[in-house]
Amino acid sequence: MIRKKRKYPSICQHFIFLCLICCSPLILAEKIALVGAQVIDGIGNKPLRGKTIIIEGNRIIALVDKKAIPRDVKLIELNGATLLPGLIDSHAHPLIAGDDYQTDHLQGSSAYKTLKGYKALRNLLNAGWTTVRVAGDTDVYYGNQDIKRLIDEGVLIGPRIFGAAHYLSITGGGGDVNYYSPEQQLIADGLVVDGVDEIRKAVRTEAKYGADWIKVLVTGAFMSVGDNPRNVQFSEEEFRALMEEANRQDMPVMAHAHATEGIKMAVRLGARSIEHGSYMDDEAIRLMKKHGAYLVPTIYVGDYYADPRYVLREQTINDDYIKNYRHIFLSLVGKAHKAGVPVVVGVDLGGYDYDPTVYARELAVLIEAGLSPMEAIQAATRVPAEMLYKGDEFGSIKAGQLADIIAVSASPLDDISELERVKFVMANGEIIRNDFSLP
Ligand SMILES: [Zn+2]
Repeated sequence: MIRKKRKYPSICQHFIFLCLICCSPLILAEKIALVGAQVIDGIGNKPLRGKTIIIEGNRIIALVDKKAIPRDVKLIELNGATLLPGLIDSHAHPLIAGDDYQTDHLQGSSAYKTLKGYKALRNLLNAGWTTVRVAGDTDVYYGNQDIKRLIDEGVLIGPRIFGAAHYLSITGGGGDVNYYSPEQQLIADGLVVDGVDEIRKAVRTEAKYGADWIKVLVTGAFMSVGDNPRNVQFSEEEFRALMEEANRQDMPVMAHAHATEGIKMAVRLGARSIEHGSYMDDEAIRLMKKHGAYLVPTIYVGDYYADPRYVLREQTINDDYIKNYRHIFLSLVGKAHKAGVPVVVGVDLGGYDYDPTVYARELAVLIEAGLSPMEAIQAATRVPAEMLYKGDEFGSIKAGQLADIIAVSASPLDDISELERVKFVMANGEIIRNDFSLP
């Protein structure tokens, strides 16, 4: 056997190697300055005019006046832009598609839905949504959790993901398919559980496969067939067991609740957020305030389906809601906000099939309900980050926060629809999109 002569590095190679070692901290530490017209930081009542954001790695390290921009930074000019924290959708269903979402999931494997769901999340990130809380998907397996894991591992680029793998429903409830014959052994869109033991097992299984929230349909739903949103579906005994188990696993609970008594039960027993809250009354609002529950009203999804281009199985229920109840609900959301209940943007449209730019219309509807434009922006940034127990990590623009930053051409405080035209996206310090640099 002929041994290859061992090759020793030349002096020149040693020099390059030493240079790499010495310079690498500098390469890693490259600082970036985002220079626009103003910054909405997600915290204050007014935009910060003339401030520049300095980023090092994946963190914001300072906000400085233009004159005080340090010399050792790479300037990124976003001419005339308003910069703000990346948007957070707190009620997402990335793997759900179409008007017929209750059975659409039967037409593709978990892998098929997962890949399409990832594409939807990638599109959402491109549109400025840097964090998503999943409110359960119609998938037997845990596709949304696999996407989350691959994003966390840095294999895929996408928004930060939190949330539940599935939504828990009773038999015949909002997450069950109630319009097929009993002979059919269908896989329901939700995770159907009855009784304390099945609930405990479901919570434990969600935790086992990666979910960090529990989503439960406490009451009936609007868009599911064969149940009534005004009915409370889980018993107090069942919901108590769910809360006990979720608390033990350190998993906050997001409770889908329309019916008044369902909202109150969920809040009293410790749900972190009420999804929808359609029939809340004064006492429900008072309880939400008292227990620190968040309200995720998901209003725009109803408006979206009022468009005759889309047809739901329960279209007449949606049409009736828009005609007779929408204005009442908006006034209730305004009332809750005034009473000090933190209101949060949750879009509730599915994943694929939807144009991600329309998601920002939920902010416009919250303004219609009585939030100021600044409060609506905070409802999509700092407030949901606090709901996620991540207010110290992201959701606002200040030193120490992760660099999730978006920019638009004109002030969204003057025209909130600017957020439908996001032109710059930075997620975790990485530039995902910069249309300001286009010719
Ligand atoms: Zn939903």
